[in-house]
Formats: sequence, structure tokens, C-alpha cells
Amino acid sequence: MTPHESWGRYPKSQAARILELAWASDVPDLNRLPHPVLPYGKGRSYGDCCLNDGGILLDASGLDRFILFDPETGLLRCEAGVTLKTILELILPANWFLPVTPGTQFVTVGGAIANDVHGKNHHRAGSFGCHLERFELLRSDRGRVLCSREGNRDLFEATIGGLGLTGLILWAEFQLKRISGPLIDCEKLRFETLEEFFELSATSDKDYEYTVAWLDCMSTGNKRNRGIFLRGNHSVTSGQNSTRRRTAPTLPGFYTPGSLINRPTVRAFNWLYLHSQLHQSTDSTIHFEKFFYPLDRIAGWNRFYGKRGFLQYQFLVPYERREGVTEILDLIAMSREVCSLTVLKVFGTTQSPGLLSFPRPGVTLALDFPFRGESTLILCEQFDQVVQKHGGAVYPAKDARMSSKSFETYFPRWREFSNFVDPCFESDFWRRVATPRPLSQ
Ligand SMILES: Cc1cc2nc3c(=O)[nH]c(=O)nc-3n(C[C@H](O)[C@H](O)[C@H](O)COP(=O)(O)OP(=O)(O)OC[C@H]3O[C@@H](n4cnc5c(N)ncnc54)[C@H](O)[C@@H]3O)c2cc1C
Repeated sequence: MTPHESWGRYPKSQAARILELAWASDVPDLNRLPHPVLPYGKGRSYGDCCLNDGGILLDASGLDRFILFDPETGLLRCEAGVTLKTILELILPANWFLPVTPGTQFVTVGGAIANDVHGKNHHRAGSFGCHLERFELLRSDRGRVLCSREGNRDLFEATIGGLGLTGLILWAEFQLKRISGPLIDCEKLRFETLEEFFELSATSDKDYEYTVAWLDCMSTGNKRNRGIFLRGNHSVTSGQNSTRRRTAPTLPGFYTPGSLINRPTVRAFNWLYLHSQLHQSTDSTIHFEKFFYPLDRIAGWNRFYGKRGFLQYQFLVPYERREGVTEILDLIAMSREVCSLTVLKVFGTTQSPGLLSFPRPGVTLALDFPFRGESTLILCEQFDQVVQKHGGAVYPAKDARMSSKSFETYFPRWREFSNFVDPCFESDFWRRVATPRPLSQ
């Protein structure tokens, strides 16, 4: 059995009980359970929004059945524990694709809704919640509630990006995207400065459905902030024969006690990555898994960070305040922390229906750091000051440490949201950012 922890493995948290659900009817009367409860998908959230220390986790990954798939219209209805990987196995042969996908396919539909996940096509398609038609929610106070834009719209909007706090999603229905086959025509372009990145992004977003960049922020001098810009479109060649089924190599079932991620290993990796890209053809047609899910190729890669785990800090600042990105990169350069992964993307203007959703117009940067204690936390607090100065926000799905004051600044509608929180539901994240409980208590 996989442990019920978060992907970053920080903070440590121990649920008092795990209820593994196989059928919706397995859920006991939520009012009779002794502890606060929280749904759990596949634990691919980096921080503590999927954790419930001392409480009960409702493991929804066993709710994994398809209910409806119309290959003519691309409408899909499935239980909330179905993973994006399983969906792709069903829909790809019929030439359909996910409307939005994050950088891993090992997430559940329930988790994708609760964090209102985004992908490389945010500038075109918005977030996952933009494509939802309806879902059914199980609440302790109202039982089963059907939510859509037409009915129970307020609960529909609160649940999208609602961090699992508005009830247990039992199933969801959403619209897929028509494609010709599993291949992606993609191009990689090297840039030397952030200005070049912004130029590339502005010119590419019109013609490319998917754009994202990797940044080498551990180099020094004028090499700092160089990177690789990746852009792509679904290929019109069908490529149906290129079924690429390679099982991801898995790390042995133990954790490295110390972190393998340190300044020399990250610098060496970045150098190798940057130079290996130069020797590859910049134009290629590749399998979608290679394009969307490069990290899924090493199962359990989070264990490289050792027992203490790691933090991801993903923030966004409005485009016209993009100097905030440079300021944060400057803070990293001045610190002794090791930034092992840096992913940069310009979001579009499509607004999510989600009341508490993170995605909004602007520039987003995701940064990974091995957790080294106080010094890592202090650096993140310095980042918070920059993000707040520029009117930005930090992504709760990746967060394990933001203060309640920061949360209120990033999500000004949080009080309105708190009215929709199920009275029996709580998470480690929610206890941290919304204590003392507002309004109703
Ligand atoms: C390698 C990697 C790459 C990633 N890339 C991206 C990215 O590009 N974009 C992005 O947005 N995110 C990204 N993520 C984060 C990930 O997509 C989200 O954290 C996602 O929500 C995880 O889904 P999960 O099924 O594992 O849910 P969990 O992490 O287990 O839970 C997430 C939240 O969903 C709630 N939840 C789960 N199931 C239900 C349910 N049935 N009903 C109600 N609430 C529920 C939980 O309570 C929790 O609050 C990435 C993560 C990894 C590990």
C-alpha cells in the first residue's frame, strides 16, 4: 500500500484513519465519524492540502469506474478516483484528448477539480474547471448534490479549486478535445535572457497550443536565466502505430537518507540538459507522454530528495509586474538554497469558474527546493513579500508553509469560500491558513 503522504513529503502528517472507498455507498455517515475528514486522490499535491493530521482521509482512488463516454461528442463521465492516465488509455484510440492536463498523468479527476489544475495550454484553454459540465458532491449536511452552471452554481464554483473542503466529489462530467492521434509536433528553442523568454512566449502563444519553458537558474553571471522554450501542437499525422508503452523505472522501495539534490548535482544536470538539447534537432514529432509527462518516466523521483523531502514554490504575478520574476530569481541567486527545477509559463486570460482557483492572467514560475529547514522557509517568506508587492498569488496545491495572512492576500474571496466548506471537512492546509475559523464559528 502506498503511504498517504504528499508528493513533497513535507510536512510529515499522520491521519488517524484511512477509509479506502471502492463504491460511493462505502462512505459512512460523515456526521458520525469522530474526526474531521478530507478526500485523498493520488497524493500528487506537493504540500499539505491533501493531508489531514489526526483526522480521516477518504481515499477516493478506488472510485475508478467510467460511467459514460460518447466517442461522437467527446463527453466523458467517470468516478472521481479515475486517473488521467486511465482516461487517456480509453480516449486516445478514439482520437480524443484531455482538455487540460498537468505535468503528471497520475492524478485523479477529483484532485484535478479540487486544485483546478492547469497545463501548458493555459493561454488557450484555461484550467481544468473551465471544461467541467457537472459533478456530484457528497456533503455531510446536504447529502448528494448535483452541481453545474445551471444548478447549485455557487457550490459548483466553490468546489472547483476548493481544495477538497466542500465535500467528496463522487463523479464528474467534462468535455474532451478532438485530436488526430497521439503525436505532438514540437520545437525547442534556447533563450539567453528572461526578455528573450517573454518575446518567445508572446510570439508563440498565437500559433502554438502548448508552451512552457525550463530555466537554468543555478548558473552564475550572464548565463543565469538562460533556458529552453518548448512549444507544440497536436500533430495532424495520426501516428496510431506509435503506441509507446514504456513502464517507468521505479526507484527501490527505500528512501535515500540524505538528499541527492545539491548544488554540484543540480549544476551538472542543468549543464547536461542544456547542452544535450543543443545537439538534438529542435523540431521533432514525439509521443504525447514524452511531451507532457517527462517526470513520470521515473516513478518515485521525489525520493531523490531524501527523508526531509522538498518544497515547491509556485507563484504568479500579473504580466505587467513581471519584474517580480527577476526579483525572485535574484533572491535565489543570493541565497544558499539549491533550486533544482524551474518552470516558467505565461498564463492566458480565460477565467476559471472556481471561486478560489489559483490560475489567473500573468506569469507563473514553479521552483523546487530540497527542504533544509529554517533557511528554506525564510527564503520562501522573502518570496512571499515580492509576490505580495506585485499583487500575485501562490498555488495552494504546491504549498506547505504559507501564512494565513499571505493566504488572505492571495485569495481575497476566501471568506466567501469558507461559507461552502463542509462542517465535517478540514485539512492541514486549511487549519493553517484559515484559523481561527471565520464567520460561521
Ligand atoms: C510531477 C508533477 C507535476 C505536476 N504538474 C502540475 C501542473 O502542471 N499543473 C498543476 O496545476 N498541477 C500540477 N501538479 C500538481 C497536481 O496536478 C495536483 O496537486 C493534483 O490536484 C493532484 O491530484 P491527486 O489526485 O493526486 O489529488 P491529491 O493530491 O490526493 O489531493 C489534492 C486535493 O484534491 C482533493 N481531492 C482529491 N480527491 C477528491 C474528491 N474525490 N473529492 C473532493 N476533493 C478531492 C484533496 O482533498 C486535496 O485537497 C503536478 C504534480 C506533480 C507530482
